[in-house]
Order: sequence, then C-alpha cells, then structure tokens
Amino acid sequence: MAAAGARTALLLVDLQADFLAHPRLVPDADTLVARAAALLAAFRERALPVAHAHTWVAADGADAMPHWRRRAATPCREGSAGAAPPAALAPIAGELVARKRFYGAFGDARLDPWLRARGVGRLVVAGCHLQACVRQAVLEAYERGYQVVVADDVVATPEPLHGELTRAWLADRAADFLAAAEIVAALDGKPSAAREGLPVAWIGGAPRTARDGACFVHRDPCDTARVLAEVPLAGPPEVAEAALAAEAAQRAWAADTVQRRAGLLDAWAAELDADRERLVELLVGEVAKPRRFAEEEVGRAAAHARIAAELVRTAGPLAVAPGVCAALRPVGVVGVVTPWNNPVAIPVGKLAPALGFGNGVVWKPAPHAPGCAQLLLEGLARAGAPAGLANAVFGAAATAHAVCRESRVAAVALTGSSETGRVVAGLCAEALKPLQAELGGNNAAIVLADADLAAAAADLAQAAFGFAGQRCTAIRRLVVAAEVAGRFEALFAEATRALRVGDPGEAATDVGPLVSADKRDRVLAAIERARREGARVVIGGEVPRRLAHGAWLVPALLADVDPASAIAQEESFAPVAVLQVARDLEHALALANGVPHGLVASVHTSDPCARARLGAALEAGIVQLAPGPLRIHPRAPFVGWKASGLGPPEHGLWDAAFYTRTQAVYGPAPC
Ligand code: NAD
Repeated sequence: MAAAGARTALLLVDLQADFLAHPRLVPDADTLVARAAALLAAFRERALPVAHAHTWVAADGADAMPHWRRRAATPCREGSAGAAPPAALAPIAGELVARKRFYGAFGDARLDPWLRARGVGRLVVAGCHLQACVRQAVLEAYERGYQVVVADDVVATPEPLHGELTRAWLADRAADFLAAAEIVAALDGKPSAAREGLPVAWIGGAPRTARDGACFVHRDPCDTARVLAEVPLAGPPEVAEAALAAEAAQRAWAADTVQRRAGLLDAWAAELDADRERLVELLVGEVAKPRRFAEEEVGRAAAHARIAAELVRTAGPLAVAPGVCAALRPVGVVGVVTPWNNPVAIPVGKLAPALGFGNGVVWKPAPHAPGCAQLLLEGLARAGAPAGLANAVFGAAATAHAVCRESRVAAVALTGSSETGRVVAGLCAEALKPLQAELGGNNAAIVLADADLAAAAADLAQAAFGFAGQRCTAIRRLVVAAEVAGRFEALFAEATRALRVGDPGEAATDVGPLVSADKRDRVLAAIERARREGARVVIGGEVPRRLAHGAWLVPALLADVDPASAIAQEESFAPVAVLQVARDLEHALALANGVPHGLVASVHTSDPCARARLGAALEAGIVQLAPGPLRIHPRAPFVGWKASGLGPPEHGLWDAAFYTRTQAVYGPAPC
C-alpha cells in the first residue's frame, strides 16, 4: 500500500557507541558520526520528523540475539555506555526512539504509526550496518509503501564487499542511494547541481549530457569554499551504451595491423607532449598536485604510451613446439577504474596497452579531475583513435560497480585503495572476470645505525610528505635502529620543517593541500585518536593558520606508537609518518613486514650484507636499496604484494599478461 503523505523523515539506525566501536567500520566512526550529525541538523533545521532506531538488550544480556549469546559478546546492554549514541546524535524532545533487539527497526510497533501520523511518505535511512540493520529497515519501509532513500555516504559497514552487494541489491529493488548533499538539496526543492557543461560520459567520441541531477561535488583543495566541479554520475544505462560502442569499435580495431595500433600510441604520446602545459595546469588546479610533481607525471604518461607502443610491436606469437604456438589475443572490452592522485599517468598507463593490444575500453575516471580526463580523451581522438574505441563514464563508486557488472566488460583494471580493491575483486569474482589491481601502500623505510642519517632524513621527509603524502609509494613508517632513533628523529623533524608547504602552483612547493577538507578532517581525527592511545606527536599534525582556507595539514611525525594501532597499520594517504624503533635487524624486518600492505619498502644502510638480507626478506613488490629519491621507471614492473595488489604487475613487458589472452594454436602461426 502506498503511503499517503509526502513529507520526508530521517531514520538513524544503530548509531550507538558499541556498533561504532567496530575496528573495521567503513567509513570510520568519526567520519560517519560527523556526516550523520550534519544530516540530522539539516532535518532538525527544517522541522522534519526524525526517528532513531536503537538496539537495547537487557542489562544481563538474557534477551540478546541467540548468536550474540553464543559468542558471549552482547553489545548495547541497557544502561551501558555502549548502548548510548554519541552526543552529536543524541535524540531530542519530539523525536521517536524505536527499540529493537534483532535487526528490524519496524519491529517496534510504534514506528510506522508515528511516521504516518506525521504525513511521512519518504524515508531517508542512515546508520550502521549497511548489510544488516540498515538493509532490514529499508526492506521493512519498502514493504510498508514508503519511498526509501539511503544516505549513501552516511551508512557504514565492517564488511565492504557485503556492503556493496547489499547496496546494489537494494538499489535494484527497494531504495535510491543518494549522497547526503543531494538529499538536503532535494528537501529545499533545489536542483542539486549547476552542471556547467560537464558531460556524464564520452561515448563514441562525443560527450553525453546527464539524465538526472545526481552529481559528485569537488571543491577546490586550496579554497574549500569554492566548488570546482559538479560531476554528473553515470549509471548502468550509460555504462551499457559505452560498452556497446567499445565492443563494436573493438572488432574492427583488433583486426587492424599491429603497426596501426602501435602508431596510435606513438601519436597519443605526441599529443600528450603537446598538451603538457594544459595538463600540468589541470593537475595543479584540480587535485592541487605541486607543479614539479605534475610535470613529472605528464612526462611519465607520455613514456607509458611510447613503451606500450614498443611492446605491441615486439610481442608476437611464441613458437613452443613444431607446428604449435602461443598467440596473444585481445581480451575484448576492458573496464578501467582510476584514482584521483595520478589522474593522467595512471589512466594512460592502462589505456595505452589496452588499446595497443586490440581492446576497446570503458574508463571510469576519478571524479576529482574531470578536466584531465576530458583532455586525455581529446588527445586520443586527435591521435586517430576510432570513435567508440575508448569511452569514459564519469562518476564515483556506483559507476565503477556498474562497469564491473556490465556483461560486455571482459576484464577490469583498477588502481585505488585496498578497500576498493576488495569490493571490485568481489564483483569480478562473481562474474569470473580477470582483475588487475594496484592498491594502497603502508610503506616502510628501514634506517640502520650505519646509514648516512642526515641524507636519509632529507630523502625520507620528501618521500613521506611530497604531494602531502598522497602517493601510493609514499613512505609512511620509519623503522629506525634503536641506537640512532633519537638522532634520526631530530634530523627528520628538521628536514620536515625545511619542506615548503604552500601553493601547489609554485615551482618550489613540496606539500600542497590534501584533496578535500573532509579528508583532512579524517586525518586530524586519526592523529587525535593516536594521541589518545599514547602516541607522541613529534612535529606537525595541525592546520596551518595562514592556510586554513584550504585543506592543508602540517606534515606530522608520530612516535611511541603501538605497532598494532590503526595509525601504524592503516594507509593514511596523508602527510603523516610514524617512527618505529627496532631492537635489531630481525625486529626491523618484522615491523616493516607487519602490516597488511606490501607495496614499497626502502633500506638505508652502508652494510651490503644487511642490505642483501633485508632486500630478500622484505614483503613488498618494489624495494629500494640505493639512497636518494625513489624514481619509478615506466619500464619496470609496478606491483603490490599482499593487500597492495592483485593480478599481474603493470607496465613494461608485464602489460601483455593482462591485456591479452593466450591462445594455443596448433597449425600455422597467426601473422
Ligand atoms: P579510491 O579507491 O577511493 O578510488 C579509486 C577509484 O575507484 C576511483 O575511480 C573511485 O571513484 C572508485 N571507487 C571508490 N570507491 C569504490 C568502491 N567502493 N567500489 C568501486 N570503485 C570505487 O582511491 P583514491 O582515493 O582515488 O586514490 C587513493 C588510493 O589509491 C590510495 O589507497 C592509494 O594508495 C591508491 N593508489 C594506488 C596506486 C598503485 O599503483 N598501487 C597508485 C595510486 C593510488
């Protein structure tokens, strides 16, 4: 039965201390509570109905769910601190608090009549956990005829893959998933976005206009009051259209000559050179990348295109026995999902080998850099790419999910965080699609007592804090021999103070702002949490007063951290480093390897035996044994071990392993 009313109400589910204390909540509890508080304030300001659903179990746990009793872990006992919501989300007079013991908020018989009495027809649901009680509340509201909207960025889960599957399942049936900003804009009847001409997709060589108002809002990292771009979000229809265009163009392209395909990549490299200045300006403007790092990135992008052209020209069928060879065939249509921090070099590093080996592409760029994405596509078109061969669909996570799920997409190449990797791997596993994923890093540098400490400190300050630590290869943990730890700490602090924090447009700047104020605030909260847990902040970790209009953070060094704590274990992707003291070589190795990630590790010593021992035992896909800055070579395999990557390495020779399928041919070798 459809609900009669048209008012919108907010239902906050299980935002209670015990649920928020889950160590693997995504997004983390501080972020979730801050976002929920903002949404709650918006409803209260507009005098719209607000209900809270809280789990309450008897103080002795006797009526807890049976599986909680079995585990002897019963959260939310009546009267306990764990059952209370955070102060920012405490119910006020006039708001209903529905009580529940199991999953469903509507199990409290007062909730439905309370909403109906207030003329509610549309229910916005937020809280935790998405895969459990939020899902149940959505289904119950849907069954009762409410139009249900889930505040997409105000729901959390400790099981990201389960959360994403739930999101897709519910979105297909029972609820719309909208960002809180969208929901609040709709409360006032405002269109959510002034488009400013940004397309939702590039399909068949032409920009596509958005169907509806959903968009990703990106603010200027240097002036967070200023909206830089409102990027429309493509959905399954645009993704399907893009995949259809790619499939049609790919058939003819795969039959074209190797010379023509490699020639396209050389021509694209030339276009990248020609667009160098514009791309650098876009990198500085859109993601606040300091100018000299932006210049390096554009140069690397052109190198990726040229190296892919060489590879395509030289890779051919391999004779394995008389009359038998292994031929490399294109995969078909490849889905490409890329991050915001290298929005030029990473896409080129994937698109170039994909196209060179005869594939079509559906690319989901990061929404923070729409200008970079458009300029890359324009350059590719000028270089002579057939219309429809490379298409782009703009958007965020949900658009990436649509790409992974699209049946015409045969394989997916992703660069992003390990959390995103876990979700994308699940979606690819469902359809048995190959995945090549380059993921996050929580990289360690080992500094032994015989190292040139001043030189290592200077190099490592740059490695940790250049581009505000927003590089997957950034060093985040300094594992230092106990006998020199004090001296190294002082030298590193001094080297950090010497870094230039400021305008990314200036040639000398080392540290620009973080990509968003939201990200900076999450990092501030993580530093504060570490401090409460006993960490000592040696330097930095605050917002520089003269730069408070942007998302800057003074580079921070933390010492005395528990190796098991979040600040040591998780990738901050920010200008935050931790100093860990090692008793001896084996302890240094254990600390360096003792995290889930395995992307980069560096060794600073003058002892060749120690260098060899560490080099062989470090669990990282990229190991630096020489002093000086780490310069990633575009021809070298780029590979993360453990939670830092999946599938074959990328770049250089290794690209053939992912962007082609091997076929055993019995008979004459294909030409
Ligand atoms: P991200 O994982 O948030 O986003 C990467 C891409 O995936 C974007 O296009 C984004 O829209 C999409 N995405 C985000 N959440 C998703 C989800 N749940 N499901 C599917 N797609 C999703 O990463 P980011 O913030 O753009 O970039 C920073 C991260 O990327 C860091 O963890 C960094 O270490 C990693 N990174 C890794 C490498 C590497 O080569 N190993 C290089 C650069 C960046």
